[in-house]
Amino acid sequence: MPPTADPAAPVTFADLGLPDELLTALTALGYEEPTPIQREAIPPLMEGRDLLGQAATGTGKTAAFALPILERMATVGDRGTTAPLALVLVPTRELAMQVSEAVHKYGRALGARVLPVYGGQPIGRQLQGLGRGVDVVVATPGRAVDHIKRRSLVLDDVALVVLDEADEMLDMGFAEDLEAILGATPPTRQTVLFSATLPSRIAGLAKRHMSDPVKIQIAREAIAEGEAPKVRQTAYVVRRADKAAALGRILDVEAPGAAIVFCRTRGEVDELTETLNGRGYRAEGLHGGMSQEQRDRVMGRLRSRTADLLIATDVAARGLDVDHLTHVVNYDVPSAPESYVHRIGRVGRAGREGVAITLAEPREHRQLKNIERLTKQQVSVEKVPTVADLRNKRIEMTLATLRDTLVADDLDHYRSVVETLCDEFDVMEVALAAVKLAHEATGAVEDDREIAEVSLKGDKPSGYEGKKKWDKPGKGDKGTGTTNWANRAEYEAAKKGKKNKKNKHTGSDMTTVFVGAGKESGVRPQDLVGAFTGETELRGADIGAIKIFDRFSLVEVPDQAVDDVVHTMGKALIKGRKAKVRRERERG
Ligand code: AMP
Repeated sequence: MPPTADPAAPVTFADLGLPDELLTALTALGYEEPTPIQREAIPPLMEGRDLLGQAATGTGKTAAFALPILERMATVGDRGTTAPLALVLVPTRELAMQVSEAVHKYGRALGARVLPVYGGQPIGRQLQGLGRGVDVVVATPGRAVDHIKRRSLVLDDVALVVLDEADEMLDMGFAEDLEAILGATPPTRQTVLFSATLPSRIAGLAKRHMSDPVKIQIAREAIAEGEAPKVRQTAYVVRRADKAAALGRILDVEAPGAAIVFCRTRGEVDELTETLNGRGYRAEGLHGGMSQEQRDRVMGRLRSRTADLLIATDVAARGLDVDHLTHVVNYDVPSAPESYVHRIGRVGRAGREGVAITLAEPREHRQLKNIERLTKQQVSVEKVPTVADLRNKRIEMTLATLRDTLVADDLDHYRSVVETLCDEFDVMEVALAAVKLAHEATGAVEDDREIAEVSLKGDKPSGYEGKKKWDKPGKGDKGTGTTNWANRAEYEAAKKGKKNKKNKHTGSDMTTVFVGAGKESGVRPQDLVGAFTGETELRGADIGAIKIFDRFSLVEVPDQAVDDVVHTMGKALIKGRKAKVRRERERG
């Protein structure tokens, strides 16, 4: 029996008795140790027990059921049939693709054949795939029922059924489909059910279809009062692809004294270390693949303050204690809330202020909620600093540095320089040039790409404030807080009886705005983008074509933003001057 009794004892994937092919895949992916749910779920699943698990996305639950499925596949060997050995049911098409990709990734060396089957995809392709033979089918319930009726999905040989995110499937009205699907599988099958919540309907489902299941609940106990440190806790919602850029920008604005950034895998550690070094930080990576000597060297650099950022996996940072840390960053929402508390416990000590920053992907809303519930503290969701925020912050820092110099330093040495220059220039101009030099000497990296603003899916943590002020509800918008440009733009275009141009980056319908300032006032495209993104809620990518004429300019903005842009920009300064801003009149 693998050593699961003592939750504090380190357990490796090898301890769990997984075959070598899977261990190699996990090492290649940079997974250093099983997450709590994997530690608890894999042993009973490999024994063939049914399992009822309460765990949200992000806890590593996919591998918790995928690895035992693949282990079973390896043990069974050639089954001499094209019918699947395992069926995984998921609520959405995205999840079907994601889970199927994960199973494929883990089971590549075993030659696992995995097929996602979901509504909306042409059925022909799925029929072909199923016909060729598969080991694991990952399906949405509706489409699975379709295939069962057509006899293209035969479940007679299914040894394992997984209901992933069962509560969501019930919420989406799949109850009957689930009953039908489970009814089409052999009663001897092993059943696994994961759900973020366990309402009575789930208990009913479990009672009808599971036999003596092992029950696992991740993150059940509340953290004792006083155990959770007093730390300023913020979260930023970003797409995975934008994470590194977003973190660079957040760190620039936060300006931490010293920080640890926690990542899930070695690969992430290496990648992020490189990105942040490229941004001018002194970042060091720390992960389980490094020798003790290498680790000691990294720790030495952090302690002596030669490095200011440590990018580490949980395993590598275990037991690590650095006195002067000001910030802890969770590059992903930690898989278990306890782990979050443990991580952020590294700052905010001895009455010093600590900051915990968490980057969350839109689908990770549940984990953030869990963390708030457990710590009984609020994690406020903030917007990633914009290009304009960053510029302002940098100017602020230059200003503070200059003020310190004015107060503290003996500047007489430079007096003759200023006096000589003042023979030729105004003292203000001399000061401006000096400020420019001081500002540029900070070596800050130019960063002018706006990062897409996204919001959490589903319900939001209490600090949610992601809604844009011009994001008025349109037709079909149920007030979810997400932008609904498509509907509104279609509505607007229909009203006008024509289709507008689309922004090639965001797909939004665009309207042209007239700005009463052009080349003669020295206006350049970057001035307009800077002014628009600085003053309104628009991001750089939202702005379409810009044309600058002698006395005016034309700027394309999303339909929904026009009123706000006209209202706000009419009062703002462009190149230091007020300019008329209005909707461009129809031509021709
Ligand atoms: P899931 O909860 O299954 O959606 O997994 C969340 C994320 O954690 C995925 O990106 C996985 O690749 C990653 N992951 C799963 N297990 C581990 C592990 N043991 N170590 C590091 N990352 C993991």
